Amino acid sequence: MKKILALLVVITFTATRSSAQENIHYKISFANYRHHEAQVQLVVNKLSSAPATFRMSRSSAGRYATAEFGKNVYNVKAFDNNDKPLTIERVSGDIYKVAHHPSTVKITYTLYGDYGDGTYDDIDSSEAHLNMPATFMWIEGHDQEPITFEFDMPQSLHWKVATQLKPMPATNTYYARNFQYMMDSPTELSDFHLRTWTVKNPDGKNEVMRLVMHAKASDSLMNAYTAMEQKVVKEEEAVFGELPDYDYGTYTFIENVNPFVHGDGMEHRNSTFITYRGQLVDNVMNVLSTSSHEFFHCWNVKCIRPRDIEPFDFKEADMSSSLWFAEGFTQYYGELVLQRAGFKDLNEYCGILGGMLNYVLNSPGSKEFSEVTMSNQAVFTDAGVSIDRTNYPNIFTTYYYYGAVTALALDFRLRNDYHLTLDDYMQAVWKKFGKPYIPYTNEGLEKVLAEVTKDPSFAKSFFNKYIYGTQKSDYKTQLKNAGLDLVKANPGKAWMGNFRTEAADNGLQISTNTLKDQPIYNAGLDYDDVITELDGKSISSAEDIQSILAAHQPGDKIEVKYIHREVPNEAEITLQEDPSLKVVTYEEEGKPVTEAINQFRKAWLGSKVSK
Ligand SMILES: [Zn+2]
Repeated sequence: MKKILALLVVITFTATRSSAQENIHYKISFANYRHHEAQVQLVVNKLSSAPATFRMSRSSAGRYATAEFGKNVYNVKAFDNNDKPLTIERVSGDIYKVAHHPSTVKITYTLYGDYGDGTYDDIDSSEAHLNMPATFMWIEGHDQEPITFEFDMPQSLHWKVATQLKPMPATNTYYARNFQYMMDSPTELSDFHLRTWTVKNPDGKNEVMRLVMHAKASDSLMNAYTAMEQKVVKEEEAVFGELPDYDYGTYTFIENVNPFVHGDGMEHRNSTFITYRGQLVDNVMNVLSTSSHEFFHCWNVKCIRPRDIEPFDFKEADMSSSLWFAEGFTQYYGELVLQRAGFKDLNEYCGILGGMLNYVLNSPGSKEFSEVTMSNQAVFTDAGVSIDRTNYPNIFTTYYYYGAVTALALDFRLRNDYHLTLDDYMQAVWKKFGKPYIPYTNEGLEKVLAEVTKDPSFAKSFFNKYIYGTQKSDYKTQLKNAGLDLVKANPGKAWMGNFRTEAADNGLQISTNTLKDQPIYNAGLDYDDVITELDGKSISSAEDIQSILAAHQPGDKIEVKYIHREVPNEAEITLQEDPSLKVVTYEEEGKPVTEAINQFRKAWLGSKVSK
C-alpha cells in the first residue's frame, strides 16, 4: 500500500513538472532594468551527445531585412545540470557551440534592450517590451519541441504579462507549441490597461479580443478608444466574412503609446505589437490607423501567407515577391476601413489617396521597376541598417504605396467593369489560401482573379502590366465613377526637381539624392553639391529658389553655378512643370455629383457591417 502511494506521488510530481516546464525552458529576469539589462536563462533537457548549437536570430518575422540581434547579447555562459561550467565557443557573431555536454545544458546571458518598437526590445522600469527573436537565444534542430517561459518580474513594478503565448497554471509561466509559435509571440510586461470583448464568428465560435494598452490613458479615453477598435474589427471582419480561427480563441492588440518608444507596428498570428511615440490622447487616430493596418494582417500575411517566406528563416533576411500584396493591399484596406467605420471624411481620404498616387506615379523607382522587384528590395530597405549611402530614392518605390495604389486600381476595375469589388477578391483569396493555410504565389493570386472575374485574359493582362510590368493604371478615368479627379496640384508652375537643401557657407547644399529625369538631375547636380548662384542671383535659402522659380515658366532655361567636390561648375537647368498630383472631389471642382456617384461612393466607402 505504501509503496503504491509512493509511486503515485512520483507520477504526480513528474506530471506536474512536465506541464509546468517543457524540455526547452526559458527564464528571464530584470534585476538591472534601470540600465536596460535582462538576465536570460535557457535550459534544454534530453539532449543527445552531439554538439549543441545555440544562436541569436538575425531577422524577425514581418521585418524582411536582417537586424543582427546577436549584438545585444553578452556574458554568454554554459553549465550542466549542477551548475558546473561547460566550455562554450563563439563560432560566429551570433552562434555559440557547446561541443561536449551531458543531456541537460543551461545557457545564461545578459540582454540589452533600449529600443521599443515592433522588432527590438525595451527594458526599463516602465516595461519589458520583448520581441522574441530579439530576446531569446535558441537551440538549433529542435524546431518542433514545445517551449515554456517564466517571466520573473520585479514585484515593485506591478507588471502584468500580455502575450499570445498560452498561459500555464504556474505563476507567470507560458507555453509555445514550437519554435515558430514562440518567435511569433511578442510579450509586453508592464502595468497596462486591459479591455476585452467577444466577437461571434459565423461558425458560432466566440473569439475573445483583448486590447492591451500601455499608455497614460483615463478610463473615458480607454472606453472611447476601445469602441473605435471594436468598429475596426467589425469592418475588417466584414471584408473577409469572418475572423480567423485564433489559437486559444484569443486575439491580443498589444499597444504601447509612450514618449520613449519608437513608432512601429508588427503583425502576428494572434496578436499585434504596436508602438507609437507620444501620448495616446494626442494621437488616437494615428494609433488606430496603425492598428487597423496590423489587424488586417491577421488575415493577409499571417494566414494568407506568401510561399517564399514560409516558414520564416530567422537566420537570414527573408525575401518575398509578394509584399506588394501582403503589405500594399493591407495598406489600402487599413485606410479604407477607417473610412468605412466613419472615422475620416471624404476630403481626408482624398488627401491619403492623392498622397499615395503622387508618390508612386512620380517615383523614379516605379517607372523602372515592377512591384515584384520592389517587394524583393525589402531585404535591404525594411529597416535594414548600414552606413553607406544608397540610391534608393531613384531605385526604390515602397511596396506599401505601390501595392496600395494597385489595390485601388483593381478595386475600381472590378467595380467599374465586373460588378464586383476588391472585397470579393479578398474573400476568394481568403477561402483559397488563407483559411486552409495554403501558402500562395503571385501566380496563385492571378488565378484567383481569373476565377473571381471569370475572365482569365483580364487577370493575365492585369498581372502582366501592373504586377510583373511597370505600366500604371489610368487612375483619372477609373476614379470618375466615384466623382473623384486626379489632377496636377500646381498646374503651370515652373519646377526644378524634388530635393532637399541645407544652408552652407557659400550657398545652399543639396542634402538628398537628386532624382532621375528631373531638371536638376538632368543638369548634372547631385548630393552634396553646393548651389551658389541661380539665374544670376546668389542663393542662401530654399525660399530664394522658390522666388526665382516663381518668375519663370516651365520650359525656361536658367543658369546654375555650383561647387562639386571643391570644384566650381556651371550648368543650364531646363525647368519643367511641377508634376505633383492630387485627388479632388467633383464638389471641389464644381462638377455635378450624380445619384450614381453617390451610390458608388456608398458601396465603396460605406460601412459593410450588417446592423
Ligand atoms: Zn504591414
